[in-house]
This record gives sequence, structure tokens and C-alpha cells, in this order.
Amino acid sequence: MSGHRVADPAARCSDPVAGALVAAAFAAISSRYVLARHQIAAAVLDADGSIHLGLHLDAMVGRAAVCAEASALSAARLVTGADLVAVAAVRYPKPTEPAAARVVPPCGLCRELLLDHSPGIRAVVPDGPHPLLVPLGELLPHKYVGTKWPAHLANP
Ligand SMILES: [Zn+2]
Repeated sequence: MSGHRVADPAARCSDPVAGALVAAAFAAISSRYVLARHQIAAAVLDADGSIHLGLHLDAMVGRAAVCAEASALSAARLVTGADLVAVAAVRYPKPTEPAAARVVPPCGLCRELLLDHSPGIRAVVPDGPHPLLVPLGELLPHKYVGTKWPAHLANP
């Protein structure tokens, strides 16, 4: 932990689902932040109302890093097969940055991954002062669809 007081960005969420997920992700990264190792946490809500947390794992080789959203997806799948309905991720500031945590949208890889596993999932994205909850599919038009999975698994 950096020691400086960082505001919870959930206070700026007008949507209650977005607020709950952002608060959960903020609490997680606030307690587990380590400079250059864990900068982002994510929270995934399942259709039964449970929230699953994930932590960003940075790496010496950048492409070996694992996003918080992927970690949260894995955490969810360890305990439930329920549909995943929403995701949010929060980046904690470095000690040298202004003391403001912020909502970050899923990266391109996570958009692919989350939509493969939960086509109907929504994501909290920054949008001016108030983060928005939007269908993730709208953030990835013309998503890649391969032939690796049978059709019933590709489109559950
Ligand atoms: Zn990602």
C-alpha cells in the first residue's frame, strides 16, 4: 500500500451494479496493491448475485502479465457455472501519481476472453465523471469467431 489516501471511484457511479463492482474492485486493489506487480483489480458479478475478484499479475516480460479481468473470470469459474453479467476493473495510483483510483475498461484481449465465456456480459467503462455500464459486445464489434469450438460452445 502506498500510504496516501485514495478516493473510491465507486462514489461516482450512478448505476448501483456498477457502484457495487467498482467498490469491490477498489477494496481489493487498495489492500493488495504492490508497485509494478499488482496495479489493477477486477470484480465480476454472476447471475446469482455473487461477486468474484481478480488481481492483475504483472511480469518482467510484459506479454506474460495476466489481467485482473482474466483472474476474476478464473475465480468465478472455480466456484460457479452461472452466467457472468457484469465486470469492472479499478487501477490504483502509483505513489508518484495523484491519489485517484480510476475505472479502466477491459483491454482488447479481455474483451475477447470475457465475450467468449459470457457473451451477454456488461462492463463498467470510464465516461467523463460518471462510469457507465455498457454491453461489452458493443465495445468489440465484429468479434473474432474461430472454428476451434463447436457452434453450441461458441454461442452458448
Ligand atoms: Zn486485459
